[in-house]
Amino acid sequence: AKAQGRGAWCFFHEAMTQAARERLALESRLRTAITQGHLRLYYQPQVDMASGRIVGAEALVRWQDPQEGLIPPARFIAVAETSGVIGPLGEWVVREACRQGQQWRAAGLPDLTLAVNVSPRQFHLTDLAGATAAALAETGFPPSRLELEITETALAERTEDARTTLLRLRALGVRLAIDDFGTGYSSLGQLKQLPIDVLKIDRGFIQDLPASADDLAISTAIIAMGHSLGLDVLAEGVETEAQLACLRERGCDHYQGYLCSRPLPAEAFEALLRAQAHS
Ligand code: C2E
Ligand code: CA
Ligand code: CA
Ligand code: CA
Repeated sequence: AKAQGRGAWCFFHEAMTQAARERLALESRLRTAITQGHLRLYYQPQVDMASGRIVGAEALVRWQDPQEGLIPPARFIAVAETSGVIGPLGEWVVREACRQGQQWRAAGLPDLTLAVNVSPRQFHLTDLAGATAAALAETGFPPSRLELEITETALAERTEDARTTLLRLRALGVRLAIDDFGTGYSSLGQLKQLPIDVLKIDRGFIQDLPASADDLAISTAIIAMGHSLGLDVLAEGVETEAQLACLRERGCDHYQGYLCSRPLPAEAFEALLRAQAHS
């Protein structure tokens, strides 16, 4: 039994070093991908419920690997966070969204709000406000058209730091959204004290609408609470007309989801906008 235990330990050890090696390899490939320009932003439309028009987009990162093809964020954001690569990656994302947004403005496309994801790690460990200010200044994109999406987790840790960063961002004139709202632990009192503009209802509360009475109660409450605090409310992951109808009935302001479109490469998103402008 002893020998067997030892064998198991060796196997475990091997597996660990294997995992660690793979993580290191991925991290170094990711660094190269950033410097070689292999990251892409995809844009998912954000739709105004009342008019049905596209009024913005969420920018979502992808890794276009020459060998592997398109790699989704689920495969590399966690490694980027633990390794610190999220710093340069996050700065690239903000700058690229601003650059693209300014290019669309110059091309005379309708005004859009572009939302960008900020990871909790980036929020605490890098100079997010400084990098955002630099990206805006370099590209000329209007601060009021940029929205940063922050999760409740980022706000729950080290609340004072979080507040200071949010206030600096707000002073720049950018908009702030709470992402995946309802899945974390932000208290109503905390929400009231933060300079937030938008609540994004997590897809988990949307997917079983309208059948789930619980989810219906929760999303109704989030919309009412958001509005009473003067916030815009956006529903994520809307896939069906029935979901859209029930959210619209409850006064939800905006939605995102496959019902309108999946996230699109910049050119395809631009084509969609042009088609809308002519309709
Ligand atoms: P998220 O911020 O909650 O983004 C929404 C995710 O839901 C996206 O997945 C989007 O493609 C997907 N989605 C949108 N509509 C629907 C729908 O109707 N049905 C379903 N089933 N899914 C829908 P994606 O692009 O794979 O991104 C996954 C996560 O990766 C994001 O979740 C976000 O947490 C993270 N992420 C993406 N881009 C970035 C980035 O630039 N920086 C950071 N820090 N995180 C990012
Ligand atoms: Ca998001
Ligand atoms: Ca989300
Ligand atoms: Ca999510």
